[in-house]
Order: sequence, then structure tokens, then C-alpha cells
Amino acid sequence: MLLGADPATVRDLAAGHGTPLLLLSTQVARRQYRALTHALPRVDVHYSMKPLPHPAVVRALRDEGAAFDLASAGEVDLARVLEVDPQRCIHTHPIKRDRDIRHALDFGCRTFVFDNPYELAKLEPYKREVELLLRISFPNPQAQCDLSLKYGVAAGDALSLLGKAADAGFAVRGLSFHVGSQVADPGRFVAAIAACGRLFDLAELDGIALDTLDIGGGFPVPYVEPVSGIAEFCAPIAAALEKQFPHARLIAEPGRFVSAPAMTLVSSVIGKAERQGCVWYYLDDGLYGSYSGKLFDRADYRLIPLADLEGAARPKRHSVVAGPTCDSIDVICEGRLLAEMESDDLVVSPMMGAYTAASATDFHLFRRAKVVELVSGEEALAASSAPSPPRRIPDPVAAR
Ligand SMILES: *Cc1c(COP(=O)(O)O)cnc(C)c1O
Repeated sequence: MLLGADPATVRDLAAGHGTPLLLLSTQVARRQYRALTHALPRVDVHYSMKPLPHPAVVRALRDEGAAFDLASAGEVDLARVLEVDPQRCIHTHPIKRDRDIRHALDFGCRTFVFDNPYELAKLEPYKREVELLLRISFPNPQAQCDLSLKYGVAAGDALSLLGKAADAGFAVRGLSFHVGSQVADPGRFVAAIAACGRLFDLAELDGIALDTLDIGGGFPVPYVEPVSGIAEFCAPIAAALEKQFPHARLIAEPGRFVSAPAMTLVSSVIGKAERQGCVWYYLDDGLYGSYSGKLFDRADYRLIPLADLEGAARPKRHSVVAGPTCDSIDVICEGRLLAEMESDDLVVSPMMGAYTAASATDFHLFRRAKVVELVSGEEALAASSAPSPPRRIPDPVAAR
């Protein structure tokens, strides 16, 4: 079901729009949002726009009752244009310009994140209007992308920074963290929650009453490897929050979990070659386009010949799949067992909603994938075949 549509519909859409094509299902984004809100009761789920800032997704989530995590002036503008309630938005970029702060305040967003004294000085002129969260850094060398290296104050330096902000007259409401993206182990969250619990207690001894905890994003989705279902993944996190933060306002900022399953890429084989005993396929999308996440996000994606999903049985070969540009790094995967394909055959990659189109380039002036929103009729089959939140596509390709 992760296709979001049945193979015949995919074929029709590819014929109608041309490829590369990203099929967007806002239904899937809504379902993911709902699954996470069920798995984390009491937590306000703010969609992090960064991985897929598509208006249709933001609109669907807004209608679903979601809140939003904004981090740039462009994201603020998107929220404004779509009439998102600014009180349902927080600004989470630890480093911003004066004009970024004013832009977000002008929209009506009041909650900001800081992680160092220089940023506090920038917020000084607005201290009667803003509420602050202090971003704490918890190193996570295992994460697919370890964001603790770039942002956040070490837990040991948090209290003095909290004190500095409180002494200056800021309304310091709480702490935030981001344990990394595509996190495999919920223990990372549990450990960070425990550390924040200790900081809340120490802050209280210093006369600073904190009442908000933001646990960030990072919730995982199955790409090539399976991951725990979201209810199972979040159970220990929800338990830790219940135990240590029974009265605090709680926030999460999922991006990938909501958006990744919401788009499926459809590309075409534009050429084929035999090189050193391997078959090479060249697609009309690659590392400079929708597969940019392979580089920037270090994600790996499934590649499934559409014919496989239609039941065609053909011998499989070790294959190299490359993008269309003349650059030699533009290789999507090597040594993958794929059924033999020919030019014009269609290839689908599910789970392509997060950090894909958002980081695609126009290198070589190859056309970027067009995003087409699936309408409800096209999604009908998808919905009936998957009552629960989407997990994995039946994989005709030899798994791993
Ligand atoms: C990128 C980012 C997110 C979203 O992360 P996902 O792994 O996509 O859920 C949330 N919060 C912050 C501060 C981020 O930088």
C-alpha cells in the first residue's frame, strides 16, 4: 500500500504527467499524524515542515488539528499563507537573524528556542513578547544524522544559561532536544527525558519554574530495513513522560515520520548498459533530484520495477541503478537484485516523502520530479488494503 495507489493507477498517472513523478497522498500524512498522536497521548504534535514543506501536506495537517514547527522565514510564510493559527506554531531554529525573529513575531509565533548567550542577546529587544525553550544537546553517534553536534547546550552548562535568561527577565518555559533523525532506539528519548527531568528539578531549586518539554523529532520509518511500529516505539517514551512530566506541557516535532510514507517516486528507465558483468540502468531521477536524500539524509530507498507489482515474473540480476546526470557520483544503488528491465520501464520507490524533493537540485537542468496529489478515488484501493498505519510494501525484490 505504500505506493499510495494501485499499479494501474500509477501507470496512468505516469503516462499522463510524465516522469519523474512524486505521488503525494495527504491521507497517508494524516494517518501518520494520527498514529503518532495516539502513540504519544498528551503530547502536542508539531509537524516539522523541513522534510516536506508542501502546501497540500500543511493544509491537510492543519485541518487534522496539527500544530507546526517552523525554522525559517519561508516556513513562517507558508504557515501564514495557509492561515495556520500562529498560536499553534513554535519557532525552533536555535540560530536566527534579528529579521527572522521579527518575521516570526509579526506572524504571531511566540515560542522560540535558544542555546547560547549570543542568541539571548539577539532576543533581548523582544523579551516581553517571547517565551523561550533552551535546547539541550544529547550526543547520539548512532543516529543516521547526529544533530547534537551542531546545536544545543551541553546538559552541564544548561543551568547557568537558564539562570542568565531568567535573570535578564525572559520567560523561560522549558527545555527542548532533538536526539537525531531516523532514531532506531527509543532509549535515546528515554535517557534524554530523564536528564531533562533532573534539569527541571535543579532549575526549580534555583527558583526557575519550567513547565514545557519539547522532545523533538526523529521517529523512524522503514526504508530498506524494517523498524518498530510507532506504538511500540513510543510506548517507553510515553511511559517516561507520564512518570517524569505528569503535569508539563509536552511537544514533539516529527518531520520524517509524518511525511516519508506520504510520497512515492515513479521514474523511468532511460537507458541500459552492460558494464563489467553488471547491468546498469539509468533513470530520469537521481542523486541530484529526488534521491538527494541518499547524500544529504544518508537514507537508502527501495527500487521496485512496477512490473513486479503487476505480477510479472522475470529473472533477477545484480544491478546498478544510476541517475541521469553525467556525474559519476550520481549512482542510486549498486549490487541490488532487480528483475531485468528495458528502456521506458517504470520504477517505483516508496517512502520518498521526507528529505527528497525538499533537497533536490536543478543540476544539469534535468526536470525535477513533478509532485502530483492523489485524489481520493485513486487512494481508495490503497485505503481498503491497509486498515492500519502503513508499514511495508510487499517486496518482490529480494529483501536485503
Ligand atoms: C529536522 C528537525 C526535526 C524533524 O526531524 P525528523 O527526524 O524529520 O522527525 C525536528 N526538530 C528539529 C529541531 C529539527 O531540526
